[in-house]
Amino acid sequence: MDINLSKIESKLEKKLPSKRFEHTKGVRYTCGCLAMIYGYDIEKAQLAGLLHDCAKYMSENEMLSKCQKHGIDITAEELDSPQLLHGKLGAFYAKKKYKVDDEEILEAISYHTTGKPNMSLLCKILFIADYIEPNRKIIPGLEQIRKYAFEDLDKAVLTKLTNMSKYLTDNKVEITGIAKETYDYYVKA
Ligand code: FE
Ligand code: FE
Repeated sequence: MDINLSKIESKLEKKLPSKRFEHTKGVRYTCGCLAMIYGYDIEKAQLAGLLHDCAKYMSENEMLSKCQKHGIDITAEELDSPQLLHGKLGAFYAKKKYKVDDEEILEAISYHTTGKPNMSLLCKILFIADYIEPNRKIIPGLEQIRKYAFEDLDKAVLTKLTNMSKYLTDNKVEITGIAKETYDYYVKA
């Protein structure tokens, strides 16, 4: 694969708000580290990390209308929380604007917010890197997940999902759709 990571990074620097860009760089490097440990292609993992939030600069209405325009279907949960769409839309832009045609990368970007049942290694790497990258504000459980991430990736995934569901329950938000399917697959199984 012929990838120019620094060129993509400069493009993103122009597109993303600066905090989002700092987060993006953190996810890029964390994906690279996890790829080293778990034996995944380091460049591909960094590319997924770099592009995972490439659509996260739009308003909710803008995301909804971009999805409609490009024929990307919107689930009930996404209609309810349009922020979720930045995954799918990010995968779309990764392909169209950044010329990424690797399906594994596009899938990982698509599902990085909710996860999905039976995730590929890259999906898990991105799902965890997004949560633990060094710029993340410390929240309860984060240090534990950072430790697990480098010892046992599946344990990190399970713990992140448990934390997320606790956060939602505490805020009286019901977990639905693909996020629920992911939770059931990894936590209830
Ligand atoms: Fe995101
Ligand atoms: Fe992110």
